[in-house]
Amino acid sequence: MSQTKILIAGGGIGGLSTAIALLRRGFDVEIFEQSSELREFGAGIQISPNGNRALASLGVFDTLHRLACPSDAKEIRLWNTGKTWPLFDLGDAAVRKYGFPYMTVFRPDLLRVLADEVKRLKPDAVHVNARCEGVEQTDDAVSLRLADGRVFTGDVLVGADGVHSRIRPALFGEDPTLFTGMVAWRTLIDMDKLPEKFRRSVAVNWVGPGGHVVHYPIHGGKLMNWVGTLEGNQWDSPPWSAAAGIEECRAAFAGWHDDIHAMLAHAPSVTKWALCGRPLIDNWVEGRATLLGDACHATLPFLAQGAVHSIEDGVVLARCLAAYADPRVALQRFDAIRRPRTYAMVRGAADNTQRFHNPALAAVDTAEAFISREWQSDAISKRYEWLFTYDVNTVEV
Ligand SMILES: Cc1cc2nc3c(=O)[nH]c(=O)nc-3n(C[C@H](O)[C@H](O)[C@H](O)COP(=O)(O)OP(=O)(O)OC[C@H]3O[C@@H](n4cnc5c(N)ncnc54)[C@H](O)[C@@H]3O)c2cc1C
Repeated sequence: MSQTKILIAGGGIGGLSTAIALLRRGFDVEIFEQSSELREFGAGIQISPNGNRALASLGVFDTLHRLACPSDAKEIRLWNTGKTWPLFDLGDAAVRKYGFPYMTVFRPDLLRVLADEVKRLKPDAVHVNARCEGVEQTDDAVSLRLADGRVFTGDVLVGADGVHSRIRPALFGEDPTLFTGMVAWRTLIDMDKLPEKFRRSVAVNWVGPGGHVVHYPIHGGKLMNWVGTLEGNQWDSPPWSAAAGIEECRAAFAGWHDDIHAMLAHAPSVTKWALCGRPLIDNWVEGRATLLGDACHATLPFLAQGAVHSIEDGVVLARCLAAYADPRVALQRFDAIRRPRTYAMVRGAADNTQRFHNPALAAVDTAEAFISREWQSDAISKRYEWLFTYDVNTVEV
């Protein structure tokens, strides 16, 4: 009997995770990545316990764990006074409660671990310089057309090609890129250049009127990942990221606490990212093709779950394809399981905008009352428990 062949457009976190999950279940996989090599932006990423549970199911958790920084805690700080509130205890507490830690990771480390595992399972699975453009299908097969004219045929196509997906319009028609008006300023700072007080295994979220700043250690504690997001920007067209000057960044955060500027004083360079989304569509599947990851649930990063959910997608998709003989039925099941959860995550992240950037944060007295209310323990549990307890291995397919 011939092996079922799955074509995957996009070799990012979602595409590679999906490939591993499928290869482990005996499917044949080919991945098509537009870039000349598999790579990730040099920045940090938070992987919550549900993401680590999914990475464990891919067999890569232990390797990544050795490269990551487990977080002891998360804190909220007020943009102008620097007053600090605990958000939650992580570290051993997370392992006891969820079975897995909360980790902060250097993105290139995560991508390398995933890429190495794909290579180990199937050495020639990845095609680079392979920009996907079109999709055709019959009842029996699906074909992927590349920009250079090559055509590959398989049993299933997965569009894991990110927020600016080309598979999505090929399946469902063009729809607009939605710029949120928010720009994220991203930089990495050498930890040993920073004053001692910043060298902690804690993820810190500064909140202020119209913006917030997140920072945490990555890469075995050698680097600090720093991301500052501000509202009220104009950005009309691609490219959706650009190099920027440190002084421009510091000016954008004028009035923020001295600690913010003390960190930025050691930043070597900054990149600005336009935070974009796409409309939420009411179906991800067309025949033998589906979308996953940012291609169908691009999100504001304010719950730190976008990549985590693309990893979850990959595991659940592979389980569905293994459970149903007809791949079209399997894809329908995948869509039914994953769309509600991922869209709840997208909406939850959008809700955090008004929480992180609330006008009440402008003045100290209203800010302290607002933070005490919004970050009291019941409210935090309601926002995060359903995310962290999800188990890709036991969700019913
Ligand atoms: C500032 C910021 C902070 C974030 N923090 C977190 C966090 O802490 N935790 C978290 O879980 N998530 C976080 N995210 C979200 C996360 O980065 C994304 O959700 C995740 O990268 C999505 O993975 P993906 O594989 O679906 O898409 P992508 O990572 O975009 O990968 C898509 C891949 O497809 C390739 N591609 C694109 N078009 C084509 C084509 N036509 N043909 C072939 N290949 C193509 C691309 O080159 C890329 O390799 C953050 C995002 C931002 C912007």
